Amino acid sequence: MILFSHVYKTYPGPTHALRDVSLEIDKGEFIFLTGPSGAGKTTLFRMLSGFDKPSSGDVRVAGYDLTKARSGEIAHFRRRIGVVFQDFRLLKGRTVFENVAVPLEIRGERPGQVRRRVEDILEQVGLAYKSPQFPEQLSGGEQQRVAIARALVHQPGVLIADEPTGNLDSALSGEIMDLLEKVNAQGTTVFVATHDLGLVKRRSKRQIEIRGGQIAMDR
Ligand code: ADP
Repeated sequence: MILFSHVYKTYPGPTHALRDVSLEIDKGEFIFLTGPSGAGKTTLFRMLSGFDKPSSGDVRVAGYDLTKARSGEIAHFRRRIGVVFQDFRLLKGRTVFENVAVPLEIRGERPGQVRRRVEDILEQVGLAYKSPQFPEQLSGGEQQRVAIARALVHQPGVLIADEPTGNLDSALSGEIMDLLEKVNAQGTTVFVATHDLGLVKRRSKRQIEIRGGQIAMDR
C-alpha cells in the first residue's frame, strides 16, 4: 500500500530532512509517526501525499509511483487519499455541509450523490445536526471532526493526519483518536503524526519514530 525505498530529501541550505528512509505499510494498518519537532515528519507526509518529490529514492502509494508520476497523474492520486492537518483548514465562508462536499464537487459528482454521501459521513462523525452551521460556530474538536469528514467523504484508501490533535485538549484528542480508529476499523489505512507520546502509549499500534531524518524505531 505504502512503500518508501531509500528516500532522501534535501532542502536548499542544505538541510537533510530525510536520509535513507525505507518503510512498508500494508493496506488497513494504523500507524503512529512520532519524533521531535524538526525530525522530518511533515516532510515524510509531503512525499507520501504527493505534495513534493524526494531528492532520490522511490515512493509508491496505492499503486502510484509518485517519484515518476507526472502532474496529471499526481492530481488523480491526490483525489484518492485523504489529508487532515493540525489547523483544520476549513473554508470559513462555507457551511459544514459545503466544506465536506468540496472533494465530491471537484470530482464532478451529481448533486443527489453529493448530498447522500455528505449526510452519511456527517452522521458517522456525529455532526449531522451541525450541517448548516459555519466553522466558527463550532468548537475545535467539532471543526476537526468536520475536517476528518471532508477527508473521508470520497472514500480514500489512505488517511494521512499531521498532528490532528495538536490544537486540542486531552479529552478531545482522545475522541479524535477514537474516531480515527473507527475509520481504520472500516478498512482505511490511517497514518497519524503526533508528538503526544501519552496518547500513543495508550493505544497499541505500530509506531514509527523518526529522528534527524532517519527511522529510529519501527515497532
Ligand atoms: P517535523 O514535521 O518533524 O517537525 P519537518 O519535516 O517540518 O519536521 O522538517 C525537517 C527539517 O527540514 C527541519 O530541519 C526543517 O527546518 C527542514 N525543512 C522543512 N521544510 C523545509 C523547506 N521548505 N526548506 C528548507 N528546509 C525545510
